[in-house]
Amino acid sequence: MMVTQAALRPDVPRWRQIVDLVRNGNAKPPRRVERSDAEWRAILTDEQYRVTRRKDTERPFSSALCSLFEPGLYRCVCCDTPIFDSTSKFDAGTGWPSFAAPIAPDVVRYVADDSYGTPQIEANCNVCDAHLGHVYPDGPPPSGLRFCINAVSLRKEQPAERQP
Ligand SMILES: [Zn+2]
Repeated sequence: MMVTQAALRPDVPRWRQIVDLVRNGNAKPPRRVERSDAEWRAILTDEQYRVTRRKDTERPFSSALCSLFEPGLYRCVCCDTPIFDSTSKFDAGTGWPSFAAPIAPDVVRYVADDSYGTPQIEANCNVCDAHLGHVYPDGPPPSGLRFCINAVSLRKEQPAERQP
């Protein structure tokens, strides 16, 4: 079985805690970014808007991000909050970028999603409420989680941005 290289922070929730967060309320976000629907429409591309603000799902295998494993951070495309790190990225073969854990416990908001007939847990940005994708309890160790994320919801940080 595939194991990710993520040095998992002990405070990043596991599946049972995620279910509790859905029921009882999410972690306090590190900050908040709130914009009107018209403002989001103006700053996002049509596809980014549909996925992040209208909870659409991009076509599987539609993004080069699926097979990209270069080091770096993945930020929310709406508010630029760092959400995932490349060390937790793995190839789940689903056609969507997959991660084993977010970089911190307070950057993802977990919400029940019953819109597909079977109950699922939606993973949203905790800062701006952007829809990112869903989380499932069938990921690799050590987290056991699989964050199945739309590539258009993310912006891969370029290595140059890390320089002071
Ligand atoms: Zn965001």
